[in-house]
Amino acid sequence: MTTRRKVLLGGAGVLALGAGGLVGRRVWLDREPAALPATDAQGRVVWQNWSGLEHSYPAQRAAPASDAELAELMRRAPVPIRPVGAGHSFTALVPTDGTLLSMDRMTGLVSHDATAMTATVRAGTRLSALGPALAAIGQEMPNLPDINKQTLAGAMATATHGTGKGLTALHGEVTALKLVTPAGEIVQCSRDTKPELFHSARVGLGAFGVLSEVTLANKPLTRVRKEVRLVDTDALLKDWPALAARRNRRTGPPARAGSGCRYADEPQDAA
Ligand SMILES: Cc1cc2nc3c(=O)[nH]c(=O)nc-3n(C[C@H](O)[C@H](O)[C@H](O)COP(=O)(O)OP(=O)(O)OC[C@H]3O[C@@H](n4cnc5c(N)ncnc54)[C@H](O)[C@@H]3O)c2cc1C
Repeated sequence: MTTRRKVLLGGAGVLALGAGGLVGRRVWLDREPAALPATDAQGRVVWQNWSGLEHSYPAQRAAPASDAELAELMRRAPVPIRPVGAGHSFTALVPTDGTLLSMDRMTGLVSHDATAMTATVRAGTRLSALGPALAAIGQEMPNLPDINKQTLAGAMATATHGTGKGLTALHGEVTALKLVTPAGEIVQCSRDTKPELFHSARVGLGAFGVLSEVTLANKPLTRVRKEVRLVDTDALLKDWPALAARRNRRTGPPARAGSGCRYADEPQDAA
């Protein structure tokens, strides 16, 4: 069966071929996911990322359920301690011989402010669960990537982004963080409080401690309609600047058949 993983790995091979000819091809074949032993000589169980290209045999695995448990782990667990989200990063950000620290038990909405349109969320929340939780309080995130398997912290830590003119990556919509440092301190930071730590930890690759909570600046919940159609390349290129300039229109007449590059939400008089 062709999976998204196979397509993406195949794509990497094509890129390698394009960039490096036969040498590139050898590099790609060498990087195909290996069939790894389930345990190492010490009986440690293997961890692999989504692509299967990165792995390690952590000495300890931990999944704290509270800030206090997390802080205690940071002080005592075997190092290096590496936080892991959904393991969807392609690079070797997570593998460790020390402690693999999952935030899978620290999930869900903590609080929200309906006037300021903010929501504080536990960092291990998957994007797939975050959308419905925010919808229930009338909020949505301004931008999202193309899948929803990631954790909020993991996605933020790598500047995960979607597309759209003027929209930032996920960390751009964050107003405050709760972080547990390698020394086991529980620290709150924001643009105004400990701003250097805040800006570093937003896209911190798990290097500044473990994120426990994230406060998001959201927008009011809206309904959007997705429309997919084939468009002539020349028409698309011609209309591109106007299309790219259009944002946040959510009402309007249905698209007319055969009208070329037109969106369902485009006003009638713009035709
Ligand atoms: C199929 C697929 C589609 C993708 N689509 C997109 C896309 O559309 N746009 C895009 O920009 N990217 C995309 N990505 C990349 C993906 O969003 C990032 O790799 C993201 O980091 C994965 O999140 P994760 O929860 O799996 O984090 P992980 O891969 O588990 O970890 C990523 C980093 O975050 C750190 N981390 C995890 N939890 C914490 C925490 N609590 N505190 C501090 N640090 C932490 C880890 O240590 C690591 O450094 C895609 C990846 C895949 C496999």
